[in-house]
Amino acid sequence: MRVIVTGGAGFIGSALVRHLVLDKGYDVLNIDALTYAGNLASLTAVEGKSNYRFLKADICDRAAMTGAFADFQPDRVMHLAAESHVDRSITGAADFVQTNVIGTFTLLEAARGYWAGLGEPRSSAFRFLHVSTDEVYGSLGAEGLFTEETPYDPSSPYSASKASSDHLAKAWQRTYGLPVVVSNCSNNYGPFHFPEKLIPLTILNALHREPLPVYGKGENVRDWLFVEDHARALDVIAERGRLGGTYNVGGRNERRNIDVVNRICDVLEELRPANSHYRDLIEFVTDRPGHDARYAIDATKLEQELGWRAEETFETGIEKTVAWYLDNEWWWKPLRNAYKGERLGLIGGSS
Ligand code: NAD
Repeated sequence: MRVIVTGGAGFIGSALVRHLVLDKGYDVLNIDALTYAGNLASLTAVEGKSNYRFLKADICDRAAMTGAFADFQPDRVMHLAAESHVDRSITGAADFVQTNVIGTFTLLEAARGYWAGLGEPRSSAFRFLHVSTDEVYGSLGAEGLFTEETPYDPSSPYSASKASSDHLAKAWQRTYGLPVVVSNCSNNYGPFHFPEKLIPLTILNALHREPLPVYGKGENVRDWLFVEDHARALDVIAERGRLGGTYNVGGRNERRNIDVVNRICDVLEELRPANSHYRDLIEFVTDRPGHDARYAIDATKLEQELGWRAEETFETGIEKTVAWYLDNEWWWKPLRNAYKGERLGLIGGSS
């Protein structure tokens, strides 16, 4: 199995590359432009493996994408490259439209040209998995869950650009027959998560005894999934998902942001008791504009149709994650130092 992964130097992409290269033994070409969010240090476990290759390229570069398909001859594409941070999309939407919309369009076109030239049986077996977010569905009230039938209603420039890319991917399946599957996942957390996102920001600020900023009153609810569970889900969906279908991915782990922050403080109290009273560092700050109240995923279709289940609960996953950050200063310290001068995202959503 030969797989192109885009965005494989990012948070979820690197977990997916590690899973495909090390656990599945697939041949993987990782295409990543190495923006601020891309980090090859997340891939030291696969570096030097004969079934792993890296190409530094922008998915908006049509010639580079066409060349990569021709050279690597993939059986499958798993498209994760994106601008992914909601706060950055509010202050600089252009990069989000460029990468998430134009980049996805460019990749779909390159894939279509390559796929059209494949003979049978490879053309029927080819798959293009477009990886997206539950944020395309907008905000939920206190009740209900996002299903695959929930209408799109994005709130932020990030989620609007991802919604656009989902529509492009589905249209390429309906119009041109490109074998596309789409996945929409809830908030991820786990090792190798860039320090601007909710969970790592909280862990690292707490360790440095810096304020733990929480948007509004911390009442916003997110549905958390351990990143390695997501990586396994993506492999299953790419392998056996119905063409033209959408699969929601989630761990049934709804938590208010304030409860997530409190839980991290409590885990740190257990693991680093010397430096305690972490909850005293919490500071409530002015809410993000357009901040969605609640996201929650119904993953029944993925569970029943494809037999996937999350292995981690929020409790087990968050303990692993905090322990990982305590043990892996070599990974996060350079990032934290490099971005210290920049306004890092405040706490609200993971994206
Ligand atoms: P990330 O920001 O950590 O990583 C994105 C990667 O894409 C980086 O390595 C970056 O260098 C690369 N990239 C950005 N622009 C590029 C371009 N023009 N060309 C090539 N590479 C480029 O993001 P993530 O959190 O790992 O998310 C991966 C995907 O999963 C995204 O599509 C995101 O929308 C989706 N998603 C994320 C979450 C989440 O909670 N993080 C949840 C659901 C879906």
